[in-house]
Amino acid sequence: MPLTIVTGGSRGIGAAICRRLAAEGHDIVVGYRTDADAADEVAAAVRSAGRRALTVELDTTDESQVEALFAAAAAAGFSPVTGLVNNAGSASAFGPLADADIAAVRRDIDVDLVGVLICAKHAIRAMSTNGGGSIVNISSASAYLGSPDRYVHYAAAKAGVDAVTVGLSKEVARLGIRVNGVAPGTIYTGFHPEPDRPEVVAPTVPLGRGGQPDEIAGAVAWLLSDDASYATGTTIRVTGGL
Ligand code: NAP
Repeated sequence: MPLTIVTGGSRGIGAAICRRLAAEGHDIVVGYRTDADAADEVAAAVRSAGRRALTVELDTTDESQVEALFAAAAAAGFSPVTGLVNNAGSASAFGPLADADIAAVRRDIDVDLVGVLICAKHAIRAMSTNGGGSIVNISSASAYLGSPDRYVHYAAAKAGVDAVTVGLSKEVARLGIRVNGVAPGTIYTGFHPEPDRPEVVAPTVPLGRGGQPDEIAGAVAWLLSDDASYATGTTIRVTGGL
């Protein structure tokens, strides 16, 4: 049975990914940072789908906590880890760069890029001893649109994630590990400083609307599935056409 770790799995896109993967037969480790109740709710949904679930509190930027996450996954008595969804993300610094609080910028880049690298490092170590696996990095349309006046540092970190997806896919292919990405457009979650952000951008989106978390989860599930066995190093844009 596949066992997949989802960081930031307690809400938004991460929670939708956990539910979708459970429906497709994955046992799930729900990584969460602050809201244990929300993580428990997602774990309960996974169990209702007939799969096993474990919740683990962690900050993805702290390598010792990431090591503890993989140790907890190994100790859970489920199958070995075969999947990682690097979903945790942050854009706490918001507005033009000229006004930015650089400490917040640095913290966002730590979460959005370094945290992805740390989790991927430990996933590769686990998967390479277990016959391989699949990593999906959640990127963003920001990586190629740039997010001017909002968070160019976040866009840069996500462009970095896309480069990680390309480079790492080549580095670990011989270990039987695939590395891909999904780049969402504007999705209905609590991520945005303005709750009506999806409605505001809708007129600029070719499909005329914001996206739902479930519409991202499907792409992630496909990349983790055997149907994607020949896909590595690619990032799928799920953006309504942006
Ligand atoms: P969200 O609702 O704000 O959820 C973000 C998740 O990341 C939360 O579970 C949060 O945990 C977790 N997180 C943040 N910092 C963390 C850290 N240091 N360690 C561990 N977990 C951490 O956002 P979302 O919209 O679902 O975003 C999910 C992913 O999609 C992110 O990578 C985001 O950049 C990307 N994305 C989102 C959109 C969009 O329009 N929503 C568009 C493009 C890309 P806590 O709740 O405990 O803080």
